Amino acid sequence: MPSNESKPTLTVVGAGLVGSLLSLYLARRGHTVEVLERRPDMRRETLDAGRSINLAISTRGLHALRQVGLEEEALKHAIPMRGRAIHPVQGALAYQPYGKDDSQHINSLSRGWLNQFLMTQAEATGRVRIRFRQRVTQADTAAGTLTVQDEATGETREVRDTVVFGTDGSGSAVRQEFQAHPGFHATQEPLGHGYKELTIPPGEGGRFQMEKHALHIWPRGTFMLIALPNEDGSFTCTLFLPWQGPVSFASLQTPEALEAFFQEQFPDARALIPGLVEEFFSRPTGHMVTVKCAPWHVGGRTLLLGDAAHAVVPFYGQGMNCGFEDCVVLDSLLESRPGWEEAFRAFEQLRKTNADAIADMAVENFIEMRDSTADPRFLLEKGVEKV
Ligand code: FAD
Repeated sequence: MPSNESKPTLTVVGAGLVGSLLSLYLARRGHTVEVLERRPDMRRETLDAGRSINLAISTRGLHALRQVGLEEEALKHAIPMRGRAIHPVQGALAYQPYGKDDSQHINSLSRGWLNQFLMTQAEATGRVRIRFRQRVTQADTAAGTLTVQDEATGETREVRDTVVFGTDGSGSAVRQEFQAHPGFHATQEPLGHGYKELTIPPGEGGRFQMEKHALHIWPRGTFMLIALPNEDGSFTCTLFLPWQGPVSFASLQTPEALEAFFQEQFPDARALIPGLVEEFFSRPTGHMVTVKCAPWHVGGRTLLLGDAAHAVVPFYGQGMNCGFEDCVVLDSLLESRPGWEEAFRAFEQLRKTNADAIADMAVENFIEMRDSTADPRFLLEKGVEKV
């Protein structure tokens, strides 16, 4: 039997990037917040390889951090990427600057560091309690009731009469419960490609083995490799491949096939990834999905934000950035609107069109990154310099 529990004022489901930042925003408004996170505390335990080791934070995301006084500290750990370095199969690299001068850049940042930093900053407000190994299994989204399972003991309990913020990611359990409401619709479009993370370790004395201030791309048509720099001098590479087909995860089943593929397609990268075979066959292969749904809220009781409301594929580097922008927009609406329901309605009106547009642009940018970046006409148009 689930036991009842006296409720906190607000409940955030998921202490990922968006949930952690949102709880901080809500705490600054004077609310007491309980955050329910199904995973263990990543500050105390090493978790299995997750979504991506590093990610690109752009102006949109930095603005959200600035509003709560965290931009400066985040930037201390970020590596500016001022353009794309395009790696052909053979021949010289090409460099495509992101802007007219170096001030226009994106930043590579460790996902783990950022998530931990946000959780710690949220708790430091004294108003946020993050409870780990707490999986939300059911929700009555109209009543603001959650059924929560303790992953350590298996026991379930209920959190009642709360306002719920569903920031539990692209496979959101909270969103699932919206199905109970007539008129709710959701589409989940999986991409026909998966991804695998590989490592270029630091060189001697911790030096970067490729240009540090660039996002590296090996565009190859139906597939591509990218690499982002890390603070320790390493790069995290992500190989995007179709699931099926002549060149795909299905076709790379043996170390020999993998080795031959890398030697043929990415000879310069191959020389820098000593753990290729071990990493490729031991690390999980990631899935990518676009989620569109509506409505995003049930009255003034439950609201979806971040990937739970609008998961996008990563090729525009805007998933987290958009989720952070959600926090900024909601915060300003909570200031100007008289109640939760009005604020939630206005939030959806403002954000839904933008989120749908980013979702479509992210899919389009996959084609540009894996294909057009290698096109000589494209290089010319973008004013390419050689590096
Ligand atoms: P998540 O990060 O998925 O967090 C959800 C949290 O909820 C998790 O901690 C999870 O454990 C928890 N949870 C899930 N279910 C439950 C439950 N039932 N009960 C309790 N807790 C639960 N975005 C960028 O802006 N820039 C990039 O460069 C970028 N690169 C990317 C690269 C890759 C390969 C991928 C896949 C994505 C990338 N993204 C990037 C997108 C970014 O990762 C997401 O948009 C971002 O993580 C969304 O944050 P979130 O907090 O909404 O969801």
